[in-house]
Amino acid sequence: MISYGSQQAAAKQKHSWDNPLAGAFFDRLRGKRFGNTAYVRFPLRLPYLPAAAASRRTPSPLPTPSEKENGLKGARFSIGYLVGGTVTPNSISPELHTRFSKQGIDQKYQRIFKCPYCEGPVSVSYDQALHLIQHHCQSTRCAAAGERLPVYITDQDIYRFLPTVIVSTVDKLALLGQNHRFSNLFGRIDLICGKHGASFGKSNELCDAATAVSRGEHPLSCSGAPVYYRPFHDLAPAVLVQDELHLLNEELGTFDSHYETGAMALLKSLGAKSWKIIGATATIQDFERQAWELYLRGSRQFPAHGPDAEESFYYCPATEKIGRIFLGILGVGRKHTPAVTKALSIFYHEIQKARELIANDPVAAAAAYGTGPLNSQEQRNLLFPVRIGLDVRPDAKGLRSGSRGD
Ligand SMILES: [Zn+2]
Ligand SMILES: [Zn+2]
Repeated sequence: MISYGSQQAAAKQKHSWDNPLAGAFFDRLRGKRFGNTAYVRFPLRLPYLPAAAASRRTPSPLPTPSEKENGLKGARFSIGYLVGGTVTPNSISPELHTRFSKQGIDQKYQRIFKCPYCEGPVSVSYDQALHLIQHHCQSTRCAAAGERLPVYITDQDIYRFLPTVIVSTVDKLALLGQNHRFSNLFGRIDLICGKHGASFGKSNELCDAATAVSRGEHPLSCSGAPVYYRPFHDLAPAVLVQDELHLLNEELGTFDSHYETGAMALLKSLGAKSWKIIGATATIQDFERQAWELYLRGSRQFPAHGPDAEESFYYCPATEKIGRIFLGILGVGRKHTPAVTKALSIFYHEIQKARELIANDPVAAAAAYGTGPLNSQEQRNLLFPVRIGLDVRPDAKGLRSGSRGD
């Protein structure tokens, strides 16, 4: 179990995705051709998260088809969104199947808006035969033109297509005690059909091969696609990435710890090695104790501290460009909440003073704040990001929470 240090907030998001990506390629190199490499969990029920993660800011874990042709064997790399039923349906019910077949897919189920290969526009459609909500790139020049984008958004698709990277909310791990197909993700499957995906028992109802296996037969193809049988090489996920690890504390952490160790026990019972855990966090305190309470595991921090506060192998301050200035406030004779409230009050008064001076006498404001030849509108624009600092507020535990966009 690894935790990121507090000074690596900016780099943290990047690393959260780098690890699954590196793991996916490494899995292929060591002979894993199919199955989940990384299970990435976010602690909050954030309906917008998967869309945001997939659209712009997050690098896609999908090599282009040309990269695939350069010797990368196995299934296409894919991504699955295992989130709440209020965001995407858990399965395609007969009612949904009828509606989607007649009217097409509801736009609200679209999870990808920019093609991960070419950044072209993306549309959603319904594959009636596979009961599958699929995304397609609309650009005819795209390397992925003509095939569906490897993105799965319903629980049932994740159980059968076992995406390389699964993006999930924390609570979904509770499914391991509620839905027997959840164990498919951990490698408990009988066969992989090239058309209908993985199946355990008769759980994949659309797959004729799965039905035939339940009768004791072993067909080599299904709907024209090859069918593969056990043993499979190491199907279990290799990595669990827990984002915002520090939020798994108090009641949520107490409940979650049961599922964390339950998942590890499930992996062990299926003959798989327990996954490696990467906890991404910028604000954790006492990470060793928290990791132990959650996972019954030891932990180490990455990056480690350097020889002094501003120097390590991985970072050093850039002296020529200052992006942020951090100030510590020690309230003398006050506790932290009144000290911060007082500081915010002084800050607010200064902002208000600047706002009025800019409105009434821009020349005097330019002289007072050293803004040179800026006109009053430019001065107001300059003031705006400073004002956002007013969003910073103390919480029950002190000064560490506040606006994330400041
Ligand atoms: Zn495209
Ligand atoms: Zn099949």
